[in-house]
Amino acid sequence: MAPPLTRRRFISGAATLAGGLLYRGDAHTQVPKRRHAFAVIGRGPMGSAAARHLAAAGADVVVIGPEEPTDGQSAVVPAASHYDEMRQIELANDSLLLGRLAHASLPGFRELERSTSINFIEDNANLRVGFPTYAARGWEPARAVARELEVPVEELGMSDLAARFPYLRFPADSRGLLEPGGGIINPRKLVEAQLAAAEKNGATVVSDAAVKLQRKSGEVVIETLTGRTLRADQVLVATGAFTNQTGLLRRDLALTLIGVTIVQAGVRPGPQAEMPVVTAVLQGEAGPQILYAMPPREFPDGKTYIKGNSFRWAPSRTAGDGDAEDGPKGSTVVDDPSLMVGMLSQMIPGLEVGAVRSHFCMTSYTRSGAPYIDRIDDRLGVAAGGNAWGIMTSDEIGRLAAAMMRGEGWSGELGPEVFSARFA
Ligand SMILES: Cc1cc2nc3c(=O)[nH]c(=O)nc-3n(C[C@H](O)[C@H](O)[C@H](O)COP(=O)(O)OP(=O)(O)OC[C@H]3O[C@@H](n4cnc5c(N)ncnc54)[C@H](O)[C@@H]3O)c2cc1C
Repeated sequence: MAPPLTRRRFISGAATLAGGLLYRGDAHTQVPKRRHAFAVIGRGPMGSAAARHLAAAGADVVVIGPEEPTDGQSAVVPAASHYDEMRQIELANDSLLLGRLAHASLPGFRELERSTSINFIEDNANLRVGFPTYAARGWEPARAVARELEVPVEELGMSDLAARFPYLRFPADSRGLLEPGGGIINPRKLVEAQLAAAEKNGATVVSDAAVKLQRKSGEVVIETLTGRTLRADQVLVATGAFTNQTGLLRRDLALTLIGVTIVQAGVRPGPQAEMPVVTAVLQGEAGPQILYAMPPREFPDGKTYIKGNSFRWAPSRTAGDGDAEDGPKGSTVVDDPSLMVGMLSQMIPGLEVGAVRSHFCMTSYTRSGAPYIDRIDDRLGVAAGGNAWGIMTSDEIGRLAAAMMRGEGWSGELGPEVFSARFA
């Protein structure tokens, strides 16, 4: 179970990280003393996208955020949710709003790949598998989103599943919903590309953490963990799930935090390399359980893993924040690496699983179901609340946040009220 996250834990983790930064030496230490027009705090998917859009519009922007800790600094890993190799792009999502944001992000991602020569998206289908009653009711929101966004999906019966995916086994009478045009996105490379594009347009990237914001006349003064002082006319806080723990906003956002254990099951490369990203309801010992599995891919350690997790809902939260009494589904997830490995072996007969690694990741849910992209006051804005889909939606979130900070009118299908911040 995830440890409870307190402000003290966050700060002590950040201090460990700061030590590491100083020890390693930082490539981005030359920060001009001048005042920047914009500072973006947080160099995750949302912050880096906002920085790119600000810089592309010709604005003077500084991005402040720590680099990913190495294994030896794992105490600070909870400080970000994008430290991973593979995430899913599912346009036929249960939320039309998130589907729209992802849909709107795709052209930006493709353009970013072209302009930076950093490839971070792979075309890969998505497959939902479930029992007939679940498939009929549970997938209706995704079907409706697919119709609205004109995303092709295919309904598959048991024989279709067997013919299309002969190396996968599902319970008798399962149904499938296939989104052939889905994708896999590498969050680390995405952030690298966003920052590279931002820097190309003049942005400054500072590897540090902001610890205090002070309003002075006509500017915001940002104090950092390593003792730097930065100045900006406008500050966007894009610090992810732990935004409230940073204490940078004077009011806490209404965010519900739910921890997830990501499992990497070591496998030998095989025919499953072609498999879609599968979200399947399988029969477990304690009733129906959900298996989420991505196709095997080589990770930075040179080994091949199937990444995923499995979970069942339970009536208490893992970690919470904000005002919500319950998690987004009225419960939290209970996950266990051995559960995932067992279910994986059930779905892929003959699969030999080697070493299993797992790590913790935090998701943050907003009260509205939309990311918060809003102004806190005349100098401070926020972009936070990924609702578990903050990678695939991040370029449009960054674009909207950048336009908001520049005081431009909103462009796009959705008005600013959709993204209003709610407070705890
Ligand atoms: C298990 C799991 C699976 C997921 N799967 C998907 C998926 O398939 N598809 C998808 O689209 N999304 C997925 N998500 C959600 C996605 O990872 C998040 O929504 C996304 O990372 C949010 O981006 P962010 O920029 O808001 O926050 P983060 O990614 O957390 O980035 C925030 C950044 O702010 C920095 N920061 C924090 N405090 C400070 C400070 N004081 N000063 C400076 N910098 C600071 C952090 O170091 C970090 O770099 C998943 C999440 C989890 C946990």
